[in-house]
Amino acid sequence: MHLITGSARVAGVIGHPIGHSMSPLLHNYWFQTHQIDGVYIPLDVAPIEVNEVVPMLKKAGLKGLNVTIPHKERVALCVDELSDEARLIGAANTLLFRDDGSTLGLNTDGIGFMQNLREQAPALALSRSKVMIIGAGGAARSIAYALLKNGAHELCLTNRTKARAEALAEQLTQIFPNRLTVEPWDHLEKKFDEVDLLVNSTSAGMKGEQNLEIDLSPLPRHAVVADIVYNPLMTDLLKKARACQLTTVDGLGMLLHQAVPGFEHWGGCTPKIDLSIRQLITDKLGL
Ligand code: NAP
Repeated sequence: MHLITGSARVAGVIGHPIGHSMSPLLHNYWFQTHQIDGVYIPLDVAPIEVNEVVPMLKKAGLKGLNVTIPHKERVALCVDELSDEARLIGAANTLLFRDDGSTLGLNTDGIGFMQNLREQAPALALSRSKVMIIGAGGAARSIAYALLKNGAHELCLTNRTKARAEALAEQLTQIFPNRLTVEPWDHLEKKFDEVDLLVNSTSAGMKGEQNLEIDLSPLPRHAVVADIVYNPLMTDLLKKARACQLTTVDGLGMLLHQAVPGFEHWGGCTPKIDLSIRQLITDKLGL
């Protein structure tokens, strides 16, 4: 039995709505399996109340918060310090309430993506790789930054709304010169024969959404295809990649790994990411 005492470590997640969040299941599982006196609570916070609620939760002794839609941008404006990723992206998904009273905002999506990529595609040599990212939304920003920071040789962005890809490329070029290009959406497959890693960071392929209508057959045989969509776990894109015998990386590992920096802070240890935690989430989502 997992006992929670009066001196329990407390953390939570804020969002609006919050009922769909997997974070309480995940963090409470880690508190329990690591036998830590701690609890993680879901909090439905209306957008208008975020600026008031976050400092109150900090005063009440919480060790930190995860932040989900629609609060990620707003919280990034009211912390004491932002990580490089969170500053670039303009959004934080994790707030660490520190012992000195200050709050650090992190954006951990890129960290989660990279860790999952290393686990599921260990043979990929990023420093010699050409990467194509499909999408230019919030997740794409984190992933593009993380890939470049971790040495991706060349990064090509493509997005349905080209201007968003161009704006992101321009911003990243200031930090990582001469490594970014933008490919038009309707010529997407033209460059596939040079691509070592293809990443879908759009919501296309999600349950209830359209699939990406692309032909993966021009990709080289060693190419890796990653999809950050995790519901369904085996997206249409990953099925196509498997049919071409390419290495695939699903989105669930990213979801799990992006939660690690927060738990390290409020749980005080690095949580295990194993088959049982994957099973817990896939069962909950009915995947
Ligand atoms: P976002 O900021 O709203 O961006 C959405 C992106 O998807 C944009 O690039 C958008 O293109 C594109 N898009 C949407 N529908 C499309 C379609 N039918 N065809 C082509 N492109 C389409 O969302 P986000 O936060 O980046 O999240 C994107 C997806 O990643 C979501 O499914 C989310 O659940 C998933 N995600 C997964 C994890 C994980 O841990 N695995 C983490 C974060 C996000 P336009 O610019 O043209 O609109």
